[in-house]
Amino acid sequence: MLEALAAALPADALVTDPDIVEGYRYDRAMTVVPGKPLAVVRPSTTAQVQAAVAVAAEHGVPLVTRGAGTGLSGGATAVDGGITLSTERMRSVTIDRAAMTATVQPGLLNAEFKAAARAQGLWYPPDPSSFEICSIGGNLATNAGGLCCVKYGVTTDYVLGLEVVLADGRVLRLGGRTVKDVAGYDLKRLFVGSEGTLGVITEATLRLRPLPPVPTTIAATFADVVDAGHAVTAIASSIRPSALELMDAAAVAAVERVKPMGFDPSVGAVLIAQVDGPPEEASAVAAACRAAGAVDVVVSDDEIEGELLMTARRMVIPCVERLGAVLIEDVGVPIPRVPDLVAAVAAVAKRHHVLVPVIGHAGDGNFHPLVTFDPADDDARARAMAAFDEIMDAALALGGTVTGEHGVGSLKARHLASQLGPDVLDITRRIKAALDPQGILNPGKWI
Ligand SMILES: Cc1cc2nc3c(=O)[nH]c(=O)nc-3n(C[C@H](O)[C@H](O)[C@H](O)COP(=O)(O)OP(=O)(O)OC[C@H]3O[C@@H](n4cnc5c(N)ncnc54)[C@H](O)[C@@H]3O)c2cc1C
Repeated sequence: MLEALAAALPADALVTDPDIVEGYRYDRAMTVVPGKPLAVVRPSTTAQVQAAVAVAAEHGVPLVTRGAGTGLSGGATAVDGGITLSTERMRSVTIDRAAMTATVQPGLLNAEFKAAARAQGLWYPPDPSSFEICSIGGNLATNAGGLCCVKYGVTTDYVLGLEVVLADGRVLRLGGRTVKDVAGYDLKRLFVGSEGTLGVITEATLRLRPLPPVPTTIAATFADVVDAGHAVTAIASSIRPSALELMDAAAVAAVERVKPMGFDPSVGAVLIAQVDGPPEEASAVAAACRAAGAVDVVVSDDEIEGELLMTARRMVIPCVERLGAVLIEDVGVPIPRVPDLVAAVAAVAKRHHVLVPVIGHAGDGNFHPLVTFDPADDDARARAMAAFDEIMDAALALGGTVTGEHGVGSLKARHLASQLGPDVLDITRRIKAALDPQGILNPGKWI
């Protein structure tokens, strides 16, 4: 198989040095134990992707597509004896200013794409907190969300066209550059969020928007996280903020330990909202926070101050990772159930004596309880695993989902089955079998 790869690819696109291959085994779900791949391929073109996939298909070898490896669910972790295909060299971007679209290769980082769009006075909204380090291909394959998605939509809302290399080496072109297109099934949406299990995304045509107005930021502190949850439901039922993020006491403490922001250490939760619509929106958010029992509400038009608060929110995961191993949840519930979810998470953490800092894209009802434990302590690990499972069960019981944006990966397969039920799971498996009959694409993950 290695000889066939060497014959099919330029020498610098094939890596077999074990020290370098090692760096491609894990993603950011460090609790997932990955396999050892035989080789890493680093194609630059769609034709090279096709060549690598064709070799994998011919030899029946697993192929894991990897963007920037920032996934939090073990989706890009390596498989024993397989090929890891890294898109890191596929980074071109072409912007059509008149059409307000861009055509990009998948390895382009989200931040690089945003910068290229901004240089033309345009904006690509989807903004995962990891935007500086994650790739557009990874964003597409997980249907990534982010902070401004509550108002501006998630990755799939920006996809006009995709180019995909299938498991048999064929190249599909789905959709195109037109804003409206209802010809046939919307197959491109099948690939968005498919986590590398159905094909390798090699190019995407994405919509852009005009730059947004400078937002007003509202920061509210609460004595109790459930009160903050009630503020979220009140805000989301009346206006559409451009961001509505929650950090509970443990999340605030984790950030304060690394980068002191001056948060009151006794707070139960901080809600950070941004609004970029009519001026009444800021006062409506502030009023909803006060009505829900906020201890303090600060409104600021200062762009730098607002960005600092958002940066603090983005830093929570890396700060919590310094406390130990972390099982990162990504549960989502209908907005009116937000207070119930945050209460349920607090109860699970208490019952299992586990530290679970909570952050969330609260305006989307999407939360990341960060189940933290000492990896050297087996008892702590078992309690953390139990808490991790129970939080997903709680989300499902509230009519929610086990993953709002990070994807199923290796971490949540069992819970996916509970959420989908037998019929949807059966159809899902048939789609997988139709597109990847040998099961070589990202095997052993959620399908
Ligand atoms: C600190 C931190 C904060 C984060 N915040 C957010 C957030 O706010 N919102 C959010 O949605 N996510 C967030 N994430 C998770 C992660 O960054 C996203 O899931 C991101 O979309 C993954 O991109 P990646 O390039 O790193 O993909 P990878 O981790 O490399 O891969 C992710 C999945 O996509 C598949 N894949 C990658 N490229 C392709 C391709 N070209 N074709 C087919 N399949 C492919 C992989 O097989 C894998 O299943 C965060 C991560 C970190 C570390």
